Amino acid sequence: MTDLLRLSKLFVASQYEEDGTLIIETKSKNPRSPKRCCLLHSLDKNGTKRQRFRDHPVQGQPTMLEVVRQRFKCSFCGATHYEELPDVDGDRRITVRFRTYLEDQAIRLPFTQVAALNGVHETLIRRLFEERAARDLADYKPSLPRVLGMDEIYLHKRARFVIGDVANKTMLDMQPGRRDVDLRAYFEPLSGRDRVEVVCQDMWKGYHTLTKAMFPNAVTVIDKYHVQRTANYGMEVVRKALYHNLSNKDRIALKRQRAVFLARWETCKPETRTRLDRLFGLYPALATAYDLKERFYDIYEAESRAAAEEATTRWLASVPSEFERPFKTSIDAINNWRPHILRYFEHRYTSGYVERLNGLIRAMNRSGTGYSFEVLRAKALLKHGRIIGPADRLYSLRIGEEGAAEAPEIPSLWLLGIELSTLEADLEAGTF
Ligand SMILES: [Zn+2]
Repeated sequence: MTDLLRLSKLFVASQYEEDGTLIIETKSKNPRSPKRCCLLHSLDKNGTKRQRFRDHPVQGQPTMLEVVRQRFKCSFCGATHYEELPDVDGDRRITVRFRTYLEDQAIRLPFTQVAALNGVHETLIRRLFEERAARDLADYKPSLPRVLGMDEIYLHKRARFVIGDVANKTMLDMQPGRRDVDLRAYFEPLSGRDRVEVVCQDMWKGYHTLTKAMFPNAVTVIDKYHVQRTANYGMEVVRKALYHNLSNKDRIALKRQRAVFLARWETCKPETRTRLDRLFGLYPALATAYDLKERFYDIYEAESRAAAEEATTRWLASVPSEFERPFKTSIDAINNWRPHILRYFEHRYTSGYVERLNGLIRAMNRSGTGYSFEVLRAKALLKHGRIIGPADRLYSLRIGEEGAAEAPEIPSLWLLGIELSTLEADLEAGTF
């Protein structure tokens, strides 16, 4: 019968069923008296009390431990104390192993599902998960990659900071916001900051300031897609400006054509070209705007930085004065970020995984799991992060020793990043 229980400190006295629940009556092998109550006075045995604790199911059957718990009385002040039970969580009235079992499930499954499976309240699952996450991730520090991506996703109406390993297309961590003071505090203690060579970012000034302060040897590369997108915006402004002089019917017709203007001429279908040609005939301003947009994209076709420099200069010079306002975002992008945009031609990295992030946001908003940002982060890391434990760490150390003048500083947890596609699929399936 002790086999059934597999607890170190308790033995089974008897077992019986009560309303479909297996009740296992247990006693301590050696009741452990609590620490002293009053100095120099003893704690005397003073009867027992039966207490029940939820345990994990035994062969699928709901199970409770009924512990015959030793009571003690202080011989000086008369206070009552109970024997210490290392196998149970007294506050929650569950066994420690049931708690661990619930924590493990909470990492793998939605909290609502764990609660339903085990007949406990969801609040308990959430609390247990939060405690476990606080324990497991207390020392978690992402190991910084050679090419670091800085991005944001909008979750619960706030911009959340996301860092990734651009070369390996994985997410390394998320932070609740992107205030400079918080992000400095976050990056400051990370080792290997001097080994970051490239930081890939959108055109948010804060990231660049942060890079200069935190990554002394890194260059900033503005993500290609963020730059190109500004030309779509210019195209939109020109199209919408036409609305003022159009009849209702024509305006609605033009609104419906929104997507065709975003198509690239080189790769779009023949029927799209026909539609575009017809619209260009009707509205010559659209032809000019489309041409500006296409040639702005073409800057990225350049084969060298020098060629890209030239194409950029040519593009700027080619913008007719009446199109400077609609294409202001593109013009400003170049004027404000030119060296960092063109550095792409020396370090051809883009935040490719950003597309995944967008899918992720949709999935997170749809999943309606009601997780807080902190829970989402912890769950993503604990469930999908490949965290290397101490044994593996030793192995990595040995590998690192070969030829390495200085052994790298080993954080207590190593996380190799989360495949965003995995996380997204999990959210989409409603199993997160
Ligand atoms: Zn006492």
